[in-house]
Amino acid sequence: MKLFADVIVDISHEKLDRTFQYLVPESMKDLLKVGTVVQIPFGKGNRLTKGYVVGISRTPEVDESRIKEIQELLTDPSGLSGEDRLVALAAWMRDTYGSTMIQALRTVIPIKKKVKAKEKRTVRLLLDEKEAKEQLEFYGRKNQKARYRLLEALLEERELPWELVTEKLNISSPSINAMEKQGVLECRRVTVYRNPVHQAGKKNYDLTLNPGQSRVVEEIRSRWARGEGQVSLIHGVTGSGKTEIYMELIAGVLEKGRQAIVLIPEISLTYQTVMRFYRRFGDRISIIHSRLSAGERYDQFERAKNGDIDVMIGPRSALFTPFSRLGLVIIDEEHESSYKSETSPRYHARETAIHRAELEGAKVVLGSATPSLEAYWRGKEGRYDLYTLKERAGEGRLPQVFITDMREELKAGNRLILSRTLQKKMEERLEAGQQIMLFLNRRGYSGFVSCRSCGHVIMCPHCDVSLSLHNQGRMICHYCGHQEKKPVRCPRCGSEFISNFGIGTQQVEEVVKRLFPRAGVLRMDMDTTKEKDGHEKILAAFANGEADILIGTQMIVKGHDFSNVTLMGILAADLSLYTEDYHAAERTFQLLTQAAGRAGRGSGSGEAVFQTYNPDHYCIRTAAKQDYESFYEEEMGYRMVAGYPPAKRMMSIHGSCRDEAHLLTAMEYLKKMIFRIIKEEKLQVIGPAEESIGKIQDVYRKVIYIKGGSLEELVALKNKLEKYMEANTGYHIVNIQFDMND
Ligand code: ADP
Ligand code: ZN
Ligand code: ZN
Repeated sequence: MKLFADVIVDISHEKLDRTFQYLVPESMKDLLKVGTVVQIPFGKGNRLTKGYVVGISRTPEVDESRIKEIQELLTDPSGLSGEDRLVALAAWMRDTYGSTMIQALRTVIPIKKKVKAKEKRTVRLLLDEKEAKEQLEFYGRKNQKARYRLLEALLEERELPWELVTEKLNISSPSINAMEKQGVLECRRVTVYRNPVHQAGKKNYDLTLNPGQSRVVEEIRSRWARGEGQVSLIHGVTGSGKTEIYMELIAGVLEKGRQAIVLIPEISLTYQTVMRFYRRFGDRISIIHSRLSAGERYDQFERAKNGDIDVMIGPRSALFTPFSRLGLVIIDEEHESSYKSETSPRYHARETAIHRAELEGAKVVLGSATPSLEAYWRGKEGRYDLYTLKERAGEGRLPQVFITDMREELKAGNRLILSRTLQKKMEERLEAGQQIMLFLNRRGYSGFVSCRSCGHVIMCPHCDVSLSLHNQGRMICHYCGHQEKKPVRCPRCGSEFISNFGIGTQQVEEVVKRLFPRAGVLRMDMDTTKEKDGHEKILAAFANGEADILIGTQMIVKGHDFSNVTLMGILAADLSLYTEDYHAAERTFQLLTQAAGRAGRGSGSGEAVFQTYNPDHYCIRTAAKQDYESFYEEEMGYRMVAGYPPAKRMMSIHGSCRDEAHLLTAMEYLKKMIFRIIKEEKLQVIGPAEESIGKIQDVYRKVIYIKGGSLEELVALKNKLEKYMEANTGYHIVNIQFDMND
């Protein structure tokens, strides 16, 4: 039987779906795969051109006599360019995560845009060092914090990009203008080749690693020298000096003429972080972030391709930087959920980085203060090399954490959202002129039902997850579909105070203002950050000391260091435990550990208060002690018993369709098909159940979970299901997405 290959010739972004059909010669049938690079005769003159196979079929789309034949397969890895390898990576992503080849290519290939030289704004210091230091002292005396910070930064680096100053350093333009009028600095416009990072020469770098850091660097390097250490995981408390380790490892890789990618969650990509890399590596680094235009992003990737830079720093998508001699991929804050793509292909940056590194002979280093269970488990199993750092490298100690039991507050007649302990500590800190953050934990909030008297949460009898309250007082389990009516009284203590938990930042603000009428209060949530830069303005105001208390949702927890914050209040610390996701405890632990770590970043000592209805939950207890190891043991035990990753592999199949009945039938048939493909004992199949959001814009959504097996088995199953659905017209109006949970 004849085989035909769909080949793309031009992988500039717009032309990705222009494919041409070619005949596969007999000799190549076994070797040719999606993602293979081929030589084909192209155009009128049949010029030999490079192309990429994106699909294989048995039916010719045009008259067979007009179809040309593939000339050659390019399989020698040494002959492949950075781009060729990215196409191979896209093919792997398509295979593993389930998507079309076009979707996968769109993910790895940046949009091509004509780039015009752009005017760049900078802020340049006009004073000499002595004058600047006097001026700095003056700002300090006047308590002009924004100006102080900007001048401090300019003393380090005489000229800074405007964006860095306004966005990352949080300085408002009125402050900059005022300083310009004072003759301290000037704002300039220069025409440059675009680079979001400043271009001057690099400074001497004179920090010496401490013994703990050196040990990690030495061990990783010696493993690499022996051709081992494919993936390393550094588990180090916040501030233990992981970033310094990354930079040391990168320096070694660059010396060997190779390149590095550093993935950092967007929200942690702060001015301080960027400047540290910049100071060490100068203009050989570049950053990408979501605010870059498509053109600017393309530009950065071009510079990487041309060898103008050696280090790319950025969020998930920076993983696809087309370096041709990639030597190292670093993934900082490895546990962050932003590393998982929410759109097809639903790839995980960790897995994809490991695969890319394998393709290109590079290494991967992961780091976190609260590693994902998946990564830590692999570390314990010896699949990753695990390194531990238990102490902070610089100044600042880990904060002391107090747990308050909100059930006791109610008993003692305090119905306010702030416990007595927290109120007292707030008073003390306000008195001392220090700043406070109040974090209202609403992550994954899904309307679970709980008792205000005893804290009891209504759970699914089959699944160990909370039920969510829907219309007409029905509670539903999103894992198995179990339903029941919302009770009038608490089934445990009989109290009538049972309802869905609902509190907002606005209510917190009202209470705080009533209790502390003289304190300056800022609120940061979806409402107050709607306008452009709203987020940055609030942070800037708080950093400049314009308020004493900052109230907010998870936005305030990550990425920003405020050295004057000495108290962190965490309201509803346990709220995120009751989402119907098996990651709930893990995410809560990470959030609480990080939130507590916000207090006491400066030289002073910090405190945190966890307010909870569930003071004995292992997640709360271990987070209060910053005890990752104990948390891991408890949580892993739970995953083992319940059969969730990483104890078992899991694949979810998400289906959506406008016709609910049709969707249900389609999913039921899919389940039957699954059982025809696999033996029932081998894998556990759950569902079809309603998704946590059962309908979005009139499109119904259902999900099937498959637990057990190996990744290879699940991928094979997925491939068979894809074939089955292709052949059945009933599935053509249903959108199905696969998700390899990990
Ligand atoms: P992490 O990435 O683990 O959070 P960082 O690398 O950011 O830790 O280090 C935390 C702080 O400690 C930074 O201010 C850094 O400059 C400082 N630091 C790190 N290593 C050292 C060292 N060897 N000597 C002195 N200070 C250090
Ligand atoms: Zn259930
Ligand atoms: Zn109760």
